[in-house]
Amino acid sequence: MKKRNVDLICDVIDLISVFDAKKTNKDILQSVVSTVAWHMRAAVCSIYIYDEKSRYLTLHATQGLHPTAVGRVKLAQGEGLTGKAVQELRPICEGRATTSPLYRHFPGIEEEQYEAFLAVPILRGLRRIGALVVQDGVVDYFNQNDIKALRAIAAQLATVIENVQLLSEAHGKAGIPVGVPVAKKVPREQIIRGRSASSGTAKGRAFRLGSSPYESCILPDPSAPPHTVEDFKQSIQKTIKQINRLQQQTGKDLSDVAVLIFSAHLLILEDPQFSGRIIDLIDTGTPAVKAVSTVVNEFAEIFSSSKMPLIREKVLDVKDLGNRLTRNLFNEEADESDYRGQIIIAHELLPSDILKLSAENVEGFIVSSGVTSHNAIISRSLGIPMISIARDLADHIVIGEELLMDAEQGIIYLNPTDEVYTKYQELDAAWKALHSASDVKSKTEMKCGERVHIYANINLLSDLRPARKFKAEGVGLYRSEFPFIVRNDFPTEEEQYQIYKKLVDQMEGKSVTFRTLDIGGDKMLSYYSNVHEANPFLGMRAIRFSLQNQEIFCQQLRAFLRAGNKGNTRIMFPLISSVDDFIKAREIVFECMDELEADGLPFSRETQLGVMMELPSAVEVAEELAEEADFLSIGSNDLIQYMLAVDRTNEQVSNLYLAHHPAILRSINRIVSAARTHGKDISICGDISADPKMLQFLLGIGLRNFSIDIVNAPSIQRFVQETTMEKSMEMAKTMLGFGRISEVEAFLKMQPVISPKTS
Ligand code: PEP
Ligand code: MG
Repeated sequence: MKKRNVDLICDVIDLISVFDAKKTNKDILQSVVSTVAWHMRAAVCSIYIYDEKSRYLTLHATQGLHPTAVGRVKLAQGEGLTGKAVQELRPICEGRATTSPLYRHFPGIEEEQYEAFLAVPILRGLRRIGALVVQDGVVDYFNQNDIKALRAIAAQLATVIENVQLLSEAHGKAGIPVGVPVAKKVPREQIIRGRSASSGTAKGRAFRLGSSPYESCILPDPSAPPHTVEDFKQSIQKTIKQINRLQQQTGKDLSDVAVLIFSAHLLILEDPQFSGRIIDLIDTGTPAVKAVSTVVNEFAEIFSSSKMPLIREKVLDVKDLGNRLTRNLFNEEADESDYRGQIIIAHELLPSDILKLSAENVEGFIVSSGVTSHNAIISRSLGIPMISIARDLADHIVIGEELLMDAEQGIIYLNPTDEVYTKYQELDAAWKALHSASDVKSKTEMKCGERVHIYANINLLSDLRPARKFKAEGVGLYRSEFPFIVRNDFPTEEEQYQIYKKLVDQMEGKSVTFRTLDIGGDKMLSYYSNVHEANPFLGMRAIRFSLQNQEIFCQQLRAFLRAGNKGNTRIMFPLISSVDDFIKAREIVFECMDELEADGLPFSRETQLGVMMELPSAVEVAEELAEEADFLSIGSNDLIQYMLAVDRTNEQVSNLYLAHHPAILRSINRIVSAARTHGKDISICGDISADPKMLQFLLGIGLRNFSIDIVNAPSIQRFVQETTMEKSMEMAKTMLGFGRISEVEAFLKMQPVISPKTS
């Protein structure tokens, strides 16, 4: 059947002009999508409405997608093809949407079968109102005429949609689809979209971190006899036992970072001002649960108003304690006093909170203040999914409601249906298959026989288990800051030595590259607060901190050198900005070697010293750095951040953080060439290699050493095995010829998607 665009425009205008009080807004939008789909002979037509406050688009009406998608599907501005069309105020037309890097897949809405895609923004002047989208199963279905027709309709729709928003506002329900009944207690399935910070899937009940015991879903039974002081004392004993057990277990599993992390809990419990005051309140007739929550809140208030960050950090500890005491009052089983079956929603999280909650069996994290790189790294290491979402969306989640996190795609389902649960199970199985170690080979080779080396990025000592399981050829990056971040003071040389030695011993002779302390930026030490910086990413970070605090630097270097006594170890410095920085750091290493010799402590003089290439200034002097250093390692996460001046933790500009920017491609190529010219070892340890298209580029410019989040090893290895040097070099050559981001994107879009096979 032929498309009838002229008729279509007339019909839609007619429809809108007869729109009157007899019809609801929902009806009119539904009629528009049906009319457009019919006239364009398109399988799908949908209308999204944009909320300026949250900067999210919500699906309000659809013909062709699953009806339950209405109100559930939300996209941030700039997200997916539709979000991009709205952000850039221009139509986006794709012949094969699934090959676009912008394509976002929502499971369960039956969208995957439609390849042809056309999104047109609905605007009033330059104000964003929403988007009109058509989709069809026939590839390349939409043309220039369709774009013109849809634009004409979008222009007419702006007024209708403004009316929808006005009415929603008047009813105090802005952003909630008109016509969808909203009753607080009726579970409604919804989808919230965020950004994945740590992959995986999780399901559980929502628990807001820091909420008071009353909110943690236990309500006192009014007919039960009131709790006595004796009951409370028993609850204290039970709590002490649980905490001691947790402390022991954590100390065993996470010996490098979890030393005494529950000690504050015990200290508070033993404080007579805390337990004694609760007992006094119960004695004078206050119900026990109320007495606990009163005193917990008083303590939380005192802690949170402290000037000392270390004290402020204890707010969550005291609230956690309150929850435990309350649950134990009700004699719940020990296991139920932890966070098993719960997904934590938090505005802010500290690395130590993540460790504690992981020990308490939390299922997943939803964070609303942006995710610091260290929180993301720690969650990944612990295998806990984490998604970052906007604050107002987080506030929308009701405590106790069922959540399902798909942290592969950054999607959260609220009160998921059975259908979505089934999809989740499939997803979970697929994730496990993709990350299964069963077919990982100890040697990675391209199809043409070219050898490639896969190393592990290690953040916590517990990462060593997966590193061995996934047959890492060594440790390409040990992020040494975690033992510093979770303690209350700088760890001593001896403490550090014990940790580093375990790392070297467990790698059994394989190479280990230590990175010196990389704090500052978004990785702050709560006990080192004499630095208050307006721009911490441009301030006292990484090697700058070490060079300025030589005593701390030397303790770490001595511990590294001693741990590497018999091993095959290297040391590298983060955020080097000049040859001079490197030479200064190297001189200090040599001084430490002399001191160790004088102290009669064994170490290896052969320890190689390298530079992390993370700054534009370092790229400019790559030749000289390659000449001086024993090896170079590209820290692409920071290199992209600093080359493009895009804060890697800032959601607002995340669409500008582009690994495929021509400047990044050329810089990486320059670094690799410089290392080659000087015969020095070169590797890459940022997240860039997890993207198959970027990986092929990196192979094409000659990189052979990849240090990665080791769970990605199976998919990276499979990809390498399926490609050749020739193909990669050809791709790299073409990509290096582009000067525009759009050219690189168009080229990448044309490349076949090589999906890693799971067997
Ligand atoms: C990097 O910047 O790419 C890197 C590996 O270091 P980090 O992510 O720890 O800053
Ligand atoms: Mg870095």
